[in-house]
Amino acid sequence: MADYSRILQDLEFINISTDQFTVFEWKPEGSYKSFILDLNVIKQNPVSNIFFHMFRGNMKIVHIRLKNLIYTAGSTNEVQFQLLEALIERVAEVFNEIYDIDSYIMYDNFSTTVLNPFKDEVDKIIKTFNEIKTVVELKVPCMVCNGILPVIVKKSFVDNAESYPVPLVYNHKGHAILCFIDKNYDIRGVELVNITG
Ligand SMILES: [Zn+2]
Repeated sequence: MADYSRILQDLEFINISTDQFTVFEWKPEGSYKSFILDLNVIKQNPVSNIFFHMFRGNMKIVHIRLKNLIYTAGSTNEVQFQLLEALIERVAEVFNEIYDIDSYIMYDNFSTTVLNPFKDEVDKIIKTFNEIKTVVELKVPCMVCNGILPVIVKKSFVDNAESYPVPLVYNHKGHAILCFIDKNYDIRGVELVNITG
């Protein structure tokens, strides 16, 4: 099994924002990088409840707007998007369990410092990511690479599918394969797909 906690060492940041301001930000120890420009781009996107993926320089950035907040995670290019999505889902779940953020935001003098202890929770989520089992690693044959590729898939994506097998595109090394996954997380077929954009 892949060591997700180790893979997540390549995380650059996690940000939770309203449309106006950042309420919480996590960065690895010793990182002083700013992602404000990327976050400003993300805030322009009004669509809720759908994950969006971006490539920014050497980084991958994933974000989703849920109710009043925008959750964003950035990492090196090595980390698969599904793992970043699973991380954001877990972060949002724990954050909303601990904080009644909607009522905080209503106060004009709300100080985001009350949310600083959540950094420890994020560290804990990363450290225990293998145990919480929100993702699975599938071995997918690629007819272009001529090898078996480890593809990380969110369990929630498979579990909440409307029908099976559920399709997933894995875009890698300049080409893409379409994998069909059944409800037991088994691969039922793989096709080479063309890409445009
Ligand atoms: Zn390939």
